[in-house]
Amino acid sequence: MSLSGTFLKKSPWVYHAHAGGCNGCDLEIVACFSPRYDLERLGIKLVASPRFADILLVTGPVPLHTKPFLERIYAQTPAPKRVVAMGACGCSGGVFVDDENYSIAGPVEKILPVDVRIPGCPPKPEAIVDGLLKAMRMF
Ligand code: SF4
Repeated sequence: MSLSGTFLKKSPWVYHAHAGGCNGCDLEIVACFSPRYDLERLGIKLVASPRFADILLVTGPVPLHTKPFLERIYAQTPAPKRVVAMGACGCSGGVFVDDENYSIAGPVEKILPVDVRIPGCPPKPEAIVDGLLKAMRMF
């Protein structure tokens, strides 16, 4: 993973939207901000409101009851913005999606315009860092 020429140009703030996952992905996000990976050294910071965010990091297969909240979160995020779908659930719906499943609205790309996908169940912190850097380069 090359960081050269990227991390000094932008300092994107990230809002993590949990959309029905098992929390496995969410724990890996926490690891990214621990001293070992320390994403804040690249200027990437988690924020508590989408109104402050540049990047939406969405985990989970998006259950039907979560869909309106996710759409609202997207609307509250100021442009320009990027959407990162994380995990097998976020990227494809994982084991939760099939045509007969009455309770799932996802994957994320059915609801929001996804710019970057981070596959894995859950993805490793290195993959999350790489995905966020890809989103960062799109600004
Ligand atoms: S991709 Fe795997 S770890 Fe992430 S929310 Fe789905 S089931 Fe959990």
